[in-house]
Amino acid sequence: ATQAEAVRAAVENVADRIEDERDYLTELDSAIGDADHGGNMSRGFEAAAEAVADADTDDPSELIKTVGTTLISEVGGASGPLYGGSFMSASQEFAEEGITTETSVDFAEAYLEKVKDRGDARIGAKTMVDALTPAVQTYKKSIEHDDLPPLTALSKAVDAAERGVEFTVPIRAEKGRASYLGWRSVGHQDPGATSTLYILEELLDTAE
Ligand code: ADP
Ligand code: MG
Ligand code: MG
Repeated sequence: ATQAEAVRAAVENVADRIEDERDYLTELDSAIGDADHGGNMSRGFEAAAEAVADADTDDPSELIKTVGTTLISEVGGASGPLYGGSFMSASQEFAEEGITTETSVDFAEAYLEKVKDRGDARIGAKTMVDALTPAVQTYKKSIEHDDLPPLTALSKAVDAAERGVEFTVPIRAEKGRASYLGWRSVGHQDPGATSTLYILEELLDTAE
């Protein structure tokens, strides 16, 4: 498959998965937020899948940028700019050489940096950063230090993200709506970390 086909297939798979998990994501957000994360994400990725299907380009960087702009305009709330802005900005890493093992590491790092810039959440603030940080670090290390093939690296990154999601349960939220609950946020899994894990799982599934 061409890179454009791969990107379109990945966005489609993410949209389907998020749709399947919509009620669960909303349930998580109803415990510590405003019960809209499932709806926000499914609306956003449904629109993103349509946008990349219709986009008049086969440049993977442009397609991923389209995902970002669509998420920004469709999702709203805290997660819209975080997801959308990060896809939009990190897409630039694929502009010159397309998607290679090396540029995929650059993309992952740029994406994480953008989330941290925008959201100002450290690790342990009970946000998507808690799933994303170990995933990106594991991916980078698996490729650059352990010399593993990208698919193996991505699979390890998914495992790391899963542990990151579990790590959000016993901690107190310091950012976003959940932080309004203070200690009452303890014992609940973060919705944004969970949707981040689903996206990574679908990227792996599409790449396999
Ligand atoms: P909203 O909270 O505006 O209703 P969503 O429910 O769609 O938006 O998304 C909530 C998720 O956004 C949280 O579970 C958390 O993972 C993420 N989030 C919120 N604020 C931040 C932040 N400052 N940095 C990183 N992630 C954040
Ligand atoms: Mg919400
Ligand atoms: Mg909301």
